[in-house]
Amino acid sequence: MDKDKKPITLNPPSEAAASLNTEERLNQLQKKYDQLCAQMDDLLSENMLRSNKIFMEAEHSNLIMNQVFDASNDGIWAIDSNCKVIRVNNKLLDFLHKKVEEVIGCKCQEFFPDICSDLEKCPREKIFRGEPIIEQERTFVSASGKTIQFMVTFTPLSNLDGAAIGLVETFTDITERKRTEEELQQANRKLELLASEDALTKLSNRRIFDDYLEKEWRRQTRARKPLSLIMCDVDFFKRYNDTYGHQAGDSCLRAVAQAIQKKVRRASDLAARYGGEEFVIIMPEIYIDGAWHVADAICRELIDMQIPHGGSPVSPFVTISCGIACMIPASETSPQSLIENADQALYKAKNQGRNCVVVHEKDVGN
Ligand code: GH3
Ligand code: MG
Ligand code: MG
Repeated sequence: MDKDKKPITLNPPSEAAASLNTEERLNQLQKKYDQLCAQMDDLLSENMLRSNKIFMEAEHSNLIMNQVFDASNDGIWAIDSNCKVIRVNNKLLDFLHKKVEEVIGCKCQEFFPDICSDLEKCPREKIFRGEPIIEQERTFVSASGKTIQFMVTFTPLSNLDGAAIGLVETFTDITERKRTEEELQQANRKLELLASEDALTKLSNRRIFDDYLEKEWRRQTRARKPLSLIMCDVDFFKRYNDTYGHQAGDSCLRAVAQAIQKKVRRASDLAARYGGEEFVIIMPEIYIDGAWHVADAICRELIDMQIPHGGSPVSPFVTISCGIACMIPASETSPQSLIENADQALYKAKNQGRNCVVVHEKDVGN
C-alpha cells in the first residue's frame, strides 16, 4: 500500500452524526464503503501487477536458460539428490536417442548402468562432500548399437544457500578425438617398426643392432657375463644374383633371414641385417659353445631349405659362412672389438672353403 494513502476507519458515530437522520447516515456509510472498495481494488490491482511482473521475469529467465541450455554443443542434464533427471537439453536427448519424457524423472543409472552401479566411480558422493568438479570418461551404447564416448563433467547443482541439491552433468562427445588418438598411436607404432626394421628381410636393422650391442655391452660389463656375436655371410651371392637376377637375390635374402629367425629363439637374442648379404646375431650371456650350436643350426636349416644355387662351387644349394666371437665385456675394450673378432673368424670361414662355422681363435677356450 502507498504511504500517502490513509487507511479508512469506521469510527463509532459522533453526537453530530447521531443527530443526522437515517437517510443521511446511510449516505455517509455508503460513501465510506465505496471508498473502501476503491482502495481494495487499487490494492488488488497493485498486487496483480507485481505478481505478473515477477511471473514475466521468471518466464523470461526460463526462456533464456532454455535457449542457452539448448545452444550448447554438449549434452547437459541436471539430476536431483536421488539421481533423478530433472532437466535435460536437446543435445543430450539426441545423443541418447530419447524423447524428453523418456528421460525426465528417470534415474541416470538407467542410461549408464556400468558406472552408476559402481559406487567408486559414481561422483555424486564426492560432489556432495564439496568437490567442485569431477571429470570421467563414459561409453554409451545406443539401442541402435552406436557407441559414443563421452567426457562427462560433474558440477554441483546448488540452492539459494549454496548447498548442493543435485548435480549438473555435461557430456562432451569425444568419440572422434579418441579415434584420432588411436589412429595416431597406430601410425606411431608403425613408424617405430619401420624405423627399427630392415625393409627387405623384416629383421632388425643396423641402427637397432648398434644400439642393442652398445646396451648389452654395458650390461654385461656390469654383470661380468659373456656376450657372443655371430656374423653370417651368404656364399657366392654375387654369382647368385648373376645367375638368377636381383629380384631372386632379394627372395633368397628373405629366406636366409627366415632360417636365422627360426633358430634364434631366446627373447634376449637379437638377429639383424648388418648390410648387403651379411647378418649378425647378438647373444647375451651365451658362451662360444652355445653360439656355435645356433650358427650350426642356421647353416643346416638353410641347406634343408634347398634353395638352388647353380653358381656355387661349394654346394648345389645356397649356403652361408659364419664367424663367431665371444667376450666378457670390460670397460677397457669396446663392442667394436667383438665385431672385429667375429669378422676375422668369418674371413677364416671363407678361406676354409665356406659353408662352415669358425670361432675366433682366442675365444675357443670360453
Ligand atoms: P663370398 O662368398 O665371398 O661372400 O662372395 P659374395 O659373392 O657373396 O660376396 P661379394 O661381396 O662379392 O658380393 C655380395 C653381393 O651381394 C653383391 C651385391 O650385389 C649383393 N647384394 C648386396 N645387397 C643385396 C640386396 O639387397 N639384394 C640383392 N639381390 N643383392 C644384394
Ligand atoms: Mg659379404
Ligand atoms: Mg657373401
